[in-house]
Amino acid sequence: MIELPHRPRRLRASPQWRRLVRETRLAVDDLVWPLFVRTGEGVREEIESMPGCFRFSVDELVKEAKEAAGLGIPGVILFGIPDEKDETGSSGWDPDGIVPRAIRAIKAEVPELLVWADVCLCEYTSHGHCGLIQDGEVQNDETVELLVKAALAYARSGADAVCPSDMMDGRVGAIRTALDDAGRTSTVIVSYAAKYASAYYGPFRDAAGSTPAFGDRRTYQMDAANVDEAMREVELDIGEGADIVMVKPALAYLDVIRRVADDFSMPVAAYNVSGEYSMVKAAVAAGAFDEQAIVLETLTSIRRAGASVILTYHAKEVAQWLA
Ligand SMILES: [Zn+2]
Repeated sequence: MIELPHRPRRLRASPQWRRLVRETRLAVDDLVWPLFVRTGEGVREEIESMPGCFRFSVDELVKEAKEAAGLGIPGVILFGIPDEKDETGSSGWDPDGIVPRAIRAIKAEVPELLVWADVCLCEYTSHGHCGLIQDGEVQNDETVELLVKAALAYARSGADAVCPSDMMDGRVGAIRTALDDAGRTSTVIVSYAAKYASAYYGPFRDAAGSTPAFGDRRTYQMDAANVDEAMREVELDIGEGADIVMVKPALAYLDVIRRVADDFSMPVAAYNVSGEYSMVKAAVAAGAFDEQAIVLETLTSIRRAGASVILTYHAKEVAQWLA
């Protein structure tokens, strides 16, 4: 008989052993559910490129929010789809715009659910860029002023967190100062600190109608090849007052999540983006995968990489599976 000094299989021998020595746990506590909100009443419009995801009118959104809270999901993040778009994205910072209305409605009905508001201009600008355009270039400092207006509008409507996703320089500090000056010292800032210029956002742009009319976002979003630069971005955002720092996308950037988690003692969020979601849905529809197994494995890998918060379109299903 062979004598082996080590038999690691002993601790895999039963579900009980495997549960006992499991290093990473995925819980409903880790999830934030991204939701799209539009005008109208009784609207549940399925997004073609993201099967199972919808654009909801405020009344329907509130129903979903109630369900999410009932499933134990700690929070949602809102993306607005306005009726009108213009050069400056003015419907994004309108205090009576679609997102402020949605925030007020959810907080009135489901006050315990954390409501995060994405802060950017691209869903609201006619050109689809995340900032003001002058001479064909996205202007940084002028854009920051408008992002501050949007963040204030969302905070005043009751948002628990504002989440700048634009990648303009200096926006976290400007938003923190403005929130504090307005007495909103307890509003959390979740910064999209390391947001990459990624092909994985394709389905989101379809969902929000935010595809840039010209050029791309590479002058403000990060180059996919860089990780030291991500560390500098994260450090800057923490210095400016970010409470949670985010890496986006997640699956192709697990190494970046790990570096941020190792180098900074901050809560790290990861965005399991639309493209990651749609790939899974397409593969499941083609019969390639078991959906529950592939989703749980993917989200566990994001947790294992070091994220403590995962923004995912799978949140509701995952909460049901884990219940
Ligand atoms: Zn944007």
